[in-house]
Amino acid sequence: MAERVDVVVIGGGPAGSAAAMRAARGGASVAVFESGDRGRDKICGDGLTPRAVAALNELNIPIDASHRIAGLRMIAGRQTRELPWPESGRFPGYGAVWPRQRLDAALIEAAESSGAAVSFNSTAMPLIDDGIVRGVQVETSNGSREVLAEKVIVATGAPGAVARELGAVRVADEPFGLAIRTYVESPRHADDMLEACLTLRDEHGTPVPGYGWMFPCGDGTVNIGVGALSTMKGFKNLNLNKLLASYRASVEGPWSLGADTGRARAWRLPMSVVKRSGPGWMAIGDAAGLVNPMNGEGIDYGLESGMLAADEFLRNPTGAEQRYDDAVGERFDSFLRTGRRFAFLIGHPFLLRTGLRMAVGTHSIANITLQVMGNLVDGDTPGAAGRVLSFADRALGLADPLLRKTRAKA
Ligand SMILES: Cc1cc2nc3c(=O)[nH]c(=O)nc-3n(C[C@H](O)[C@H](O)[C@H](O)COP(=O)(O)OP(=O)(O)OC[C@H]3O[C@@H](n4cnc5c(N)ncnc54)[C@H](O)[C@@H]3O)c2cc1C
Repeated sequence: MAERVDVVVIGGGPAGSAAAMRAARGGASVAVFESGDRGRDKICGDGLTPRAVAALNELNIPIDASHRIAGLRMIAGRQTRELPWPESGRFPGYGAVWPRQRLDAALIEAAESSGAAVSFNSTAMPLIDDGIVRGVQVETSNGSREVLAEKVIVATGAPGAVARELGAVRVADEPFGLAIRTYVESPRHADDMLEACLTLRDEHGTPVPGYGWMFPCGDGTVNIGVGALSTMKGFKNLNLNKLLASYRASVEGPWSLGADTGRARAWRLPMSVVKRSGPGWMAIGDAAGLVNPMNGEGIDYGLESGMLAADEFLRNPTGAEQRYDDAVGERFDSFLRTGRRFAFLIGHPFLLRTGLRMAVGTHSIANITLQVMGNLVDGDTPGAAGRVLSFADRALGLADPLLRKTRAKA
């Protein structure tokens, strides 16, 4: 006879762990299946904005083991601006860098101690009967088994086999990102600022919509990486290894870089999805295309959407899929749509250059840029950043058809 639980979560990254711990703490029986080992790593910049720290606080995850970050240093050409994270009623005035191997281990352990049963080296596929997801088929080295569930939460990261099965794939015309990172020794490993270089160029001199980052881990190393949006000219031929090498050369001196402590690895940043729920299932985190196109941040969106999916299940399993879809849409859709439009805007080299000059032109404008890009606008006290965001939403909405029509061809 097949096992039965209230909730199956496929994927043990931040999104899956958040959903599992929230559902288990609320009294649901939860089984998590993760295809990787316990302690698996995830290719990431490891940066946590104050919004992500707030989500970790909400989940009661102590962040003492992370490296605390006071703000962001933005570099655009010869212009450098150092900005402390804004403090608001909603978000703390600090962020963190927490290497994913350790962050994800802390999260999955919290899910386990909340009562979720976690199985590693276990690949799960949805069991679909009459168009309804009724559980999962789990494959391990010891064989396969079925686990039935009232709801299946899909937390499988950037779309793969599960997403294809459910039709939760990327929207063809929408932007996405690619990014690469490695770890390097540096005496500045305990700096308390994230650093982002906004003026990257590929080996042909084409400006890259994206940024290079130095995220100090506080453990002797810095997470160094570069990311680019698919809206740039020549994106298909973009060589991320070369882009990383040239960015590395530009920061080598100021950061006194030593040896690499890992291999440079790249992965996708999904920024849209055709559908994020259906009968019996809800997709969260990267599996729901929830990555901020303005900065590539996805950990927070994974944590928040995981909590929302679990909350809707706990409120009432019947209709949870639609209520989750509505709730996640209400919280994120307009911001992420503005972000995707922004991605088309900065795919135009001239607009990218002009935009950058404006974005970091003065200290107060750079502050607004920081709040808008980090989705740190506090709805209760929106201030100047809130006004800029709603103006950008309207203006980019009007310009969108033109920006898409004139988008750079690969
Ligand atoms: C280079 C790079 C840098 C980034 N930098 C940052 C950053 O600094 N800050 C930030 O907030 N975000 C960053 N992101 C984005 C961030 O990494 C993701 O948004 C985040 O990991 C999403 O979490 P998730 O739980 O949805 O998915 P994931 O972390 O990808 O977890 C999904 C899990 O599902 C498992 N899985 C998949 N299929 C199955 C299956 N069939 N059965 C069982 N298990 C399965 C996988 O093994 C994986 O462990 C970066 C991304 C990249 C590529």
